[in-house]
Amino acid sequence: MSHHLTDTIVALATPSGIGAIGVIRLSGPDAIRIANSVFHGKDLEQQASHTVHFGTIHNDEGRILDEVLATVFVAPRSYTGENVVEVSCHGSDYIIQELMQLFIQKGARTANPGEYTLRAFLNGQMDLSQAEAVADLIASSSKSSHAIAMQQMRGGFSDEIKKLRQELIDFASLIELELDFSEEDVEFADRSKLEALVQQIQRIIKALLDSFQLGNVLKNGVSTVIAGRPNSGKSTLLNALLNEERAIVSEIAGTTRDTIEEVLNIKGIQFRIIDTAGIRDATDTIEAIGVEKTMQKVQSSALLVYVFDVVDTQPEEVRADLEKLVHENIHVLVVANKMDLNPYTKKEHYFPENSTADYHWVPVSALNKMNIDYLKESLHEAVLSKKINLESTIVANARHYEALQKSYEDLDRVLRGLSAGITSDFVAMDIRAALHHLGEITGEISTDDLLGNIFGRFCIGK
Ligand code: GDP
Repeated sequence: MSHHLTDTIVALATPSGIGAIGVIRLSGPDAIRIANSVFHGKDLEQQASHTVHFGTIHNDEGRILDEVLATVFVAPRSYTGENVVEVSCHGSDYIIQELMQLFIQKGARTANPGEYTLRAFLNGQMDLSQAEAVADLIASSSKSSHAIAMQQMRGGFSDEIKKLRQELIDFASLIELELDFSEEDVEFADRSKLEALVQQIQRIIKALLDSFQLGNVLKNGVSTVIAGRPNSGKSTLLNALLNEERAIVSEIAGTTRDTIEEVLNIKGIQFRIIDTAGIRDATDTIEAIGVEKTMQKVQSSALLVYVFDVVDTQPEEVRADLEKLVHENIHVLVVANKMDLNPYTKKEHYFPENSTADYHWVPVSALNKMNIDYLKESLHEAVLSKKINLESTIVANARHYEALQKSYEDLDRVLRGLSAGITSDFVAMDIRAALHHLGEITGEISTDDLLGNIFGRFCIGK
């Protein structure tokens, strides 16, 4: 991807289709001149930055295409850092097409996906991780994904990375100083102090790495699986959670055929719920829960909602099911369903005092929507118990995670080198590698491939 910042680009900034208003955005050196060449009412080239002007747009035959508002931004005070004009027109497909054609005829070209944000990055308006956050912010659909994207866009994450880089640069300069004097065999940098510094930087990186699992969960939703024997009430429970008749409930075991994924938003956190109701072994219902497909779903989920029927299922069966399903990285809620039929059911009946398992016990009646709020509360708690502070710096981007991981490994090599007493030039090499990897996050280090990869995923107009 080559970047022609001399071009003036144009694209629709609002969704296509009919709307009250459509906004067409021009950016580049000729943006104001091009807009002005078809705009009647004022001379846009004489206007101050950040001002809005009413006028009409005429085509070459002098036909009025629309009455519009033109907002002028003079470089470098704009989103892209270039001259920008935003033309708000009436949101008709026809008008938008005509205006776009007119701007292209006057010298603009259609923008590539993500090109506005790419230009903002190339012109130094924002760093790479902030640019990526713009896409996340537009895609955010819950309070938590919004909070992470907003923090990143406003530079909170970048500041943290830049601070780390600066400390490493200071460290590197000490080492490099030694290199300059290597003939004389001097040590400017006190080795044990260097070691402590690298360890301290590693601790910060580690904390960021550790936040990724959570960040990913908050950004993309918590993968939650509902599993249990046929007829335990999984579909009914899912309906109660979603508060609507989406899944088909049936009295004949195993009638819900396909896996269903539904999204549930509880107090700003998204849960992606997989209902495995239909997954069963038709010949052996007792073994139904062990079927491979359920197991796969459970393996890849963060939360397991195990549902059982308090009338039909024996404590040994419940314990055996859980033994099969539970793995190290999953949080388990045990939902005792159909409490309306057997209200005296207690956790102790199923998990005696001496049993090692300590599951979160949630008695409900899915059919009567009894205690569903408590279940929701428990789901929310399960995520928040991981002690997340939405205001703190959280890594939510896989690319950032990989780069942090690599720089952590580079620093491991630095530490090993220091303790093995290897020469400064090798230590310096590993430090430079760590700096490189940190720099990739904010874009101090970037390649066309990387930029193409990131911005190619944006849509046109962003
Ligand atoms: P699944 O196979 O696990 O998805 O189970 P379903 O949700 O299809 O429920 C099986 C049967 O149990 C249906 O007849 C439901 O109406 C019934 N059922 C589900 N939850 C409850 C409950 O809380 N109380 C009672 N009495 N019946 C329930």
